[in-house]
Amino acid sequence: MTDALSRTHAIALDAADPLRALRGEFLFPRHQNSDQIYFVGNSLGLQPRAARQHVLEVLDTWAAQAVEGHFTGQAQWMTYHELLTAPLARVVGAQPSEVVAMNSLTANLHLMMVSFYRPTRARPAILIEAGAFPSDRHAVESQIRFHGFDPATDLIEVEADEPNGTLSMQAIERAIGEHGPRLALVLWPGVQYRTGQAFDVAEIARLAHAQGAVAGFDLAHAAGNLPLRLHDSGADFAVWCHYKYMNAGPGAVAGCFVHERHARTDRPRFAGWWGHDKQTRFRMAPEFAPTPGAEGWQLSNPPILALAPLRASLDLFDKAGGMAALRAKSEKLTGLLEALIKARVGDVLEIVTPADPRQRGAQLSLRVAGGRERGRELFEYLASVGTLGDWREPDIIRISPAPLYNRFMDVYRFVEEVETWRGV
Ligand SMILES: *Cc1c(COP(=O)(O)O)cnc(C)c1O
Repeated sequence: MTDALSRTHAIALDAADPLRALRGEFLFPRHQNSDQIYFVGNSLGLQPRAARQHVLEVLDTWAAQAVEGHFTGQAQWMTYHELLTAPLARVVGAQPSEVVAMNSLTANLHLMMVSFYRPTRARPAILIEAGAFPSDRHAVESQIRFHGFDPATDLIEVEADEPNGTLSMQAIERAIGEHGPRLALVLWPGVQYRTGQAFDVAEIARLAHAQGAVAGFDLAHAAGNLPLRLHDSGADFAVWCHYKYMNAGPGAVAGCFVHERHARTDRPRFAGWWGHDKQTRFRMAPEFAPTPGAEGWQLSNPPILALAPLRASLDLFDKAGGMAALRAKSEKLTGLLEALIKARVGDVLEIVTPADPRQRGAQLSLRVAGGRERGRELFEYLASVGTLGDWREPDIIRISPAPLYNRFMDVYRFVEEVETWRGV
């Protein structure tokens, strides 16, 4: 038996990895004469090789067919977004009618709140985590003001109660219980972007519903990272982006989930012609009759050029055998990273992310001993040797081994580089 923390073992794990061939489906930035060791899939996933072909196909159709491209061929633009529906539903554990790729994350969050945040005098409040991603906080605060309520009393932020800045389920339960009768909406992340902590979506939805509140989720760091069961979770809505673990490119068209029970809702919504019932859309009548399901929230005819890379990316999730297969590798990759850090560079890096695999995805957030200056030094050293993580103020390096393209040896090399920097 080889030592589980040895180089030999990391090489053996790569050789035995059933997903190892998928790495070849991605393009890597180069560092000197080799591929970068890229751990920033939580920020911008790598480009699938097939993305270029899908984009070129759209450009070629536009050149050769112009307006006829809307109606020509299997990938005709009129129904192009529907090509994404089934594979996207598989990634997030939804029924096809519950998902749609449209707009951007923050735009979708606003559209969802227009329908699902309906404050009253008795029940005006939104509950979020303290330290939420700024865009989410801006969106929520501006919605509260838009309805004439006051964020000072009606934006409730749950403070971290654990030493590393993570949140216990008890703290979440307590906050939802305490503010329950005033809560219109609980908006929670699937995975916290700074700490990497993963939350139990179904349990948070259950707690919110028990208080009569709507349960919405931001899955920016969860989609393509963790196996999700959005339909079964009972969440009312969810939004996410496709440029992080979903690898669909900078500013990619985002995702949106609306639970089936709201498929034919008569809640208010901000409407556009692409949300209108497909059967009658081109009668161009003045009355709005929404398509049942998530597609009913679409506004405009979609940006086909921007959807094209998402097709390439979703193909790879299917090729991998789905999120369960990816998660199996991901737990091993992140587990090896954790074990190697603890064994070899525990004096330099403190792991902020929970140790329980059920409470994390791919990412480990690492606090550098000695404060910000030392942290920046290490971060810059790593970049200079072609090992890319990302930096979060004041002293956190985030490392996200992505099971679609990272190797066990990448993780091993990262720890070796930290050792080199520290001095062995
Ligand atoms: C990445 C991320 C965003 C980014 O929002 P965009 O609308 O895509 O710019 C928002 N919220 C969270 C939690 C994120 O992780």
